[in-house]
Amino acid sequence: SGKWAKAEAILRELEDKCGAPTAKLRQVADAMTVEMHAGLASEGGSKLKMLISYVDNLPTGDETGLFYALDLGGTNFRVMRVQLGGKEGVIKQESEEVSIPPHLMVGSSHELFDFIATALAKFVATEGEDFHLPAGKQRELGFTFSFPVRQLSLASGTLIKWTKGFLIEDAVGEDVVEELTKAMERVNLDMRVAALVNDTVGTLAGGKYSNPDVIAAVILGTGSNAAYIERAHAIPKWQGLLPKTGEMVINMEWGNFRSSHLPLTEYDISLDAESLNPGEQIFEKLVSGMYLGEIVRRVLCRMVEEASFFGDTIPPKLKIPFILRTPDMSAMHHDSSSDLKVVGSKLKDILEVPNSSLKMRKMIVELCDIVTSRGARLAAAGILGILKKIGRDTLKEGDNQKSVIALDGGLFEHYTEFRNCMSSTLKELLGEVAEYIVIELANDGSGIGAALLAASHSQYI
Ligand code: ADP
Ligand code: MG
Repeated sequence: SGKWAKAEAILRELEDKCGAPTAKLRQVADAMTVEMHAGLASEGGSKLKMLISYVDNLPTGDETGLFYALDLGGTNFRVMRVQLGGKEGVIKQESEEVSIPPHLMVGSSHELFDFIATALAKFVATEGEDFHLPAGKQRELGFTFSFPVRQLSLASGTLIKWTKGFLIEDAVGEDVVEELTKAMERVNLDMRVAALVNDTVGTLAGGKYSNPDVIAAVILGTGSNAAYIERAHAIPKWQGLLPKTGEMVINMEWGNFRSSHLPLTEYDISLDAESLNPGEQIFEKLVSGMYLGEIVRRVLCRMVEEASFFGDTIPPKLKIPFILRTPDMSAMHHDSSSDLKVVGSKLKDILEVPNSSLKMRKMIVELCDIVTSRGARLAAAGILGILKKIGRDTLKEGDNQKSVIALDGGLFEHYTEFRNCMSSTLKELLGEVAEYIVIELANDGSGIGAALLAASHSQYI
C-alpha cells in the first residue's frame, strides 16, 4: 500500500543521506588530520581544541602505593582505589559506581561537587586492611573529568564548556580541581588531587601500562573523544619547555569535529538545534551513545507522521526526546529471533505500541542498522585521521611496529554491531596496514590510568 511505500521511501532517503562510502571516509579522515594540525598550531585554530594534557610521561610500571581515582563524565560516576605494587602491578583494586541525580547535571557547581565529595568520603571510609597508607601521608587522587578543560598544569584546569547533557553555568571557567578540593574540605575529606585527566588520557595511560604499543585511546560511550601521543616539537602552540621525553599526550576533543564531508541529515540538524549545546559536538552527535537512539526516534517520528507507520494514532511516547535509549536500540538491532520479539517488546514497553507487524519490526532493525553503521564508519575514519597524523597509516621499510588503540566506553563494549562495523571499516580503510593496527578493549582503563598518573605525580616522590 501507499503507506508502506512512503515509509520505505523515508528509509531509503535516510540510507542515501547517511551513506559513508570509502572515498567519503577518506575525505573525513583527511579533514580530521588537517584540523589536528590547525588545532596544534594555535589556540582556537580549529574546532578541534587539541588540548595539552601536561602528561609528558606515561606510567612506567614502577608506581607503588595506595591511590584513589574518581571518574566523572557521564550519567554515572565512579570512585576507585588501587594498591599499586611496582613490578607486581595492581595488587588490589576496588570501585563503586554512583549514578548522578539528573537535577545535579543542570544545577549548581557547589551542589554537584558536594555530591561527589560526599560519595568519595563514604567510599574512603570503607577502606580495608588490604590497602596501605603510610603513617602521616595524605591520600592522593587522580581525577578523571571528561569534559573539555584548559589545563594549567597536570593538577589544575578550567572548564571550557559542558557536553553530554550537563549544563552547570557557574562552573564554566572555574578550576575544577579547586572546586573538588573545596568540596572535599567541606566534607572533611583529607585528600590531594594529584592529577586531573580527561578519560581519553586516563585510558591511554592505563592502556600503555598494560601494553607498551598503545599509541592512542578512543572513547565511545555516552560521548566520544580521542587522545594520542604527539611529538612535542609538532605542537607549535606549546610555549613551555620541551619535555624530556619529547612527547606530550594530546586530548583532541574530537567530539567537536565537523566538516562539510560529514553525512548530515535533517534529523541530525534538528537534533542539534534542539540540544543543550547547539552547533557544538557535531561529530559526537553522529557517533556516540547519547545520540544514536535519539536519531532513530526522530526518523520514526517522521515515518509515523508522514506514513502512518504505526497506524492512525501517533504513540504519544514517541514524542518524548531521548525516550529511545541506545541500549534499547542495540537490543532491537541484535534481535535474532525469527519474529523479532525483542523489537516487538521494546516497541510495547517504551513507545506503548501494543501490536507491531513483522514488516514494521524489520524496518526498525534496518533503521537501527543505517544509523549505527554511519556512526561506526565515521568513528573508523576518525581513527584513520589519527594514524595519518602520526604516520602510522602506511608501512615503513623494516618497521613492523604494531600500533594499538585502547578503546573504552559502553557503546563500543556492548553494541556488537557497532563494534564489528567499526573494525571492518578500519580494515577496509587500511588495507595491508590493517594487520599492524590493533583495537584493544580497555575496560575502565581510565580509572587505573588516573590512579597511575596520580602515583607518578605524587607529592611524596
Ligand atoms: P560514560 O561514557 O558515561 O563514561 P560508559 O562508557 O559506561 O559511560 O558508556 C555509557 C553509554 O554507553 C550509555 O550512555 C549508552 O549510550 C551506551 N551503552 C551502554 N550499554 C549499551 C548497550 N547495551 N548497547 C549500546 N549502547 C550501550
Ligand atoms: Mg566513561
